[in-house]
Amino acid sequence: MRINAFHLWLSKVMELSPSQLDQALSCFNKQQQSTAIVTILHKECQSCPHCSSNNIKRWGNAHGLPRYRCAGCHKTFNMLTGTPLARLRHREHWLEYSQALIDGLSVRKASSQCGISKDTAFRWRHRFLQSIASNEPTHLHGIVEVDETYFLESHKGERHLSRQPRKRGGKASKRGLSSEQIPVLIARDRNHVTLDAMLPKADVESISKVLTPVVDSDAILCSDANPIYKVFTKKSHIQHITLNLSAGVRVQKNAFHIQNVNAYDSRLKGWMRHFNGVATKYLPNYLGWRRCIEKFAGELSPNIMLNQALG
Ligand SMILES: [Zn+2]
Repeated sequence: MRINAFHLWLSKVMELSPSQLDQALSCFNKQQQSTAIVTILHKECQSCPHCSSNNIKRWGNAHGLPRYRCAGCHKTFNMLTGTPLARLRHREHWLEYSQALIDGLSVRKASSQCGISKDTAFRWRHRFLQSIASNEPTHLHGIVEVDETYFLESHKGERHLSRQPRKRGGKASKRGLSSEQIPVLIARDRNHVTLDAMLPKADVESISKVLTPVVDSDAILCSDANPIYKVFTKKSHIQHITLNLSAGVRVQKNAFHIQNVNAYDSRLKGWMRHFNGVATKYLPNYLGWRRCIEKFAGELSPNIMLNQALG
């Protein structure tokens, strides 16, 4: 648009009625989103997703994206090849969908907000969360608080149940901890770097598998009096502080406590509650989803979420 025509057009904006202004704003929003999507998806590819070779060349366009060809394996690809979002349709809604993830919307609400079917919203949820869930921290430093929390086992959405289905959300039929409770380990250091892991069992072997590669050898592990942490730290020569909460010991030396990890647990539980029970096979995806929201906190934008989903 020529500059004079633009100024004339701009001067007319003041004459819009409130409903026209709403229509115009939603139009701007869509335009802004499609520009942002193009910026993200047209990023230059650096290597071949099939063989990792850097010897790649631009090879025209396909499916609305720049295409590349690898000189090593001769395969063509674009920047979505090999990502969890490859071959998903309706890219124009991806940023709106990313916002729905930030807002923790249900499948039904995300589908109506983005104008996509419920099936699509459900499929997208787990495709978007695939990379996000696997993006666990590689190091925990300094004071590391650990705790285990439990989620009710659920076969939501699965056919051929071996027992009568529970009402949505539901309660365990046995009191206390039982095989119906799925243990999840949460470890959080004082830089707010957080690791979560669904455990086959809350025992020394399972926590060792998760913590050994990640917790620095000079870290100080803080936990409650559960003996599994004592055995683990002794075996791996990591310093350990036990908070005997039942004896009222919540803090030691003004620094050692598990209040950050406990607060994280309760935010996670509160946030999970409005999904009305989560199928156990998808639990790691939900843990990753929450971890991502916490990691970026107020900075989390649809662009960041989409980039995280692309891996
Ligand atoms: Zn290749």
